[in-house]
Amino acid sequence: MNFISKTNVVAAAVCAACLFSLTQTQAGEPDPRYGIHDRNRPVPVQVDPGYPGTQDKTGKAPQGAVVLFDGTNLDQWVAMDGKKTKWIVKDGAMECVPGSGYIRTKDSFGDCQLHVEWAAPAKVEGDDQGRGNSGVFLGGDRYEVQVLDTYNNKTYADGFASAIYGQYPPMVNPIHKPGEWNTYDIIYIAPRFDGDKLVSKAHISVIFNGVVVQWDRELTGPTGHHERPAYRPHDVRQPIAFQDHGNPVRFRNVWIRELNQ
Ligand code: MG
Repeated sequence: MNFISKTNVVAAAVCAACLFSLTQTQAGEPDPRYGIHDRNRPVPVQVDPGYPGTQDKTGKAPQGAVVLFDGTNLDQWVAMDGKKTKWIVKDGAMECVPGSGYIRTKDSFGDCQLHVEWAAPAKVEGDDQGRGNSGVFLGGDRYEVQVLDTYNNKTYADGFASAIYGQYPPMVNPIHKPGEWNTYDIIYIAPRFDGDKLVSKAHISVIFNGVVVQWDRELTGPTGHHERPAYRPHDVRQPIAFQDHGNPVRFRNVWIRELNQ
């Protein structure tokens, strides 16, 4: 091998090393500001995780969450028109008073983890969609994660508890008996609009009593009964709402953590 060819081999090796290095730093780099195991990278803040609720005792929100209902009052909530809600607080739970209308938060939220515990009436009345029906709405009153007593209750798949109503049935139905507490952890990514143009759709995941039942579902638009309306532009930040569907469904330990915080 002469000098030139040796140089070429070395140059090729250096280039290969450079390419390998570039591949290492560019392909799938989580954050170009920090190398792997960089001790200058900011570490996660330690927070009190609270504790989950049990059938006998309500849970406690993690540190840093916005507590929307801690069992004592409805200070964070109003009727949809902004007036005082007629829902009541009883035995540490907020309860839907049939005929009083939806309830919503005073504040608005964007992309978030929303934790909700709910219980259908212990005394089973009605059937199908008329049994322990309520709903957790994201994006104001647009996107419903169904609340329904589907414990041995026949109904349509995309109307089951934890269904994204009218769009996606849950993968399974890990529901507790009527009167017992269920837990939803909902991860919501709001749709994005550029003026009137839809840029990205809403995405929802749901963990139902510890079981992933909805994973990153892309919504077709707002949820509806016998309809799938098209998206209409709205601000990212919207209230959270619970549905009055004519049944005295109860809620407790409601908290929210906005993402990207
Ligand atoms: Mg409903």
